[in-house]
Amino acid sequence: MKDKTATGSCQCGNIRYSLLAPSRELHHCHCSMCRKSHASMFGTYATIEREYFVVEEGKDFLSTYLTTPDVHRHFCSGCGSHIFIDVDWEPDLVWFTPGTIDTGHPNHPPETERHIWVDSKNPLYEITGDLPKYREFD
Ligand SMILES: [Zn+2]
Ligand SMILES: [Zn+2]
Repeated sequence: MKDKTATGSCQCGNIRYSLLAPSRELHHCHCSMCRKSHASMFGTYATIEREYFVVEEGKDFLSTYLTTPDVHRHFCSGCGSHIFIDVDWEPDLVWFTPGTIDTGHPNHPPETERHIWVDSKNPLYEITGDLPKYREFD
């Protein structure tokens, strides 16, 4: 077993997970599905190989909602925290929510961090900073 590089949990603490490797990429998504799912100005995700994302506790608390048939959002049924997404087009990866990290860092390559779906952003929010902005995912 690899060492943990980070640990995270939901707000109520029933779900706890570990990362066993650096993340691959980090996205701030401004699409309306992510904004509404997180009830926030955008949703932040890091991707990691499935074998390196381990739900250590609270699997029974995970509920799933499909925003589209190929996007499975897993959240805590107790507190509502979004923990990770499975996307059908990348079965070997997990998209987890680095905002739920307690210790450590997603350790993504810094050059991969970017804003996506920026044309769908909330009009109340202004994207500032130097991170790349993509109109869609690619
Ligand atoms: Zn919870
Ligand atoms: Zn999105």
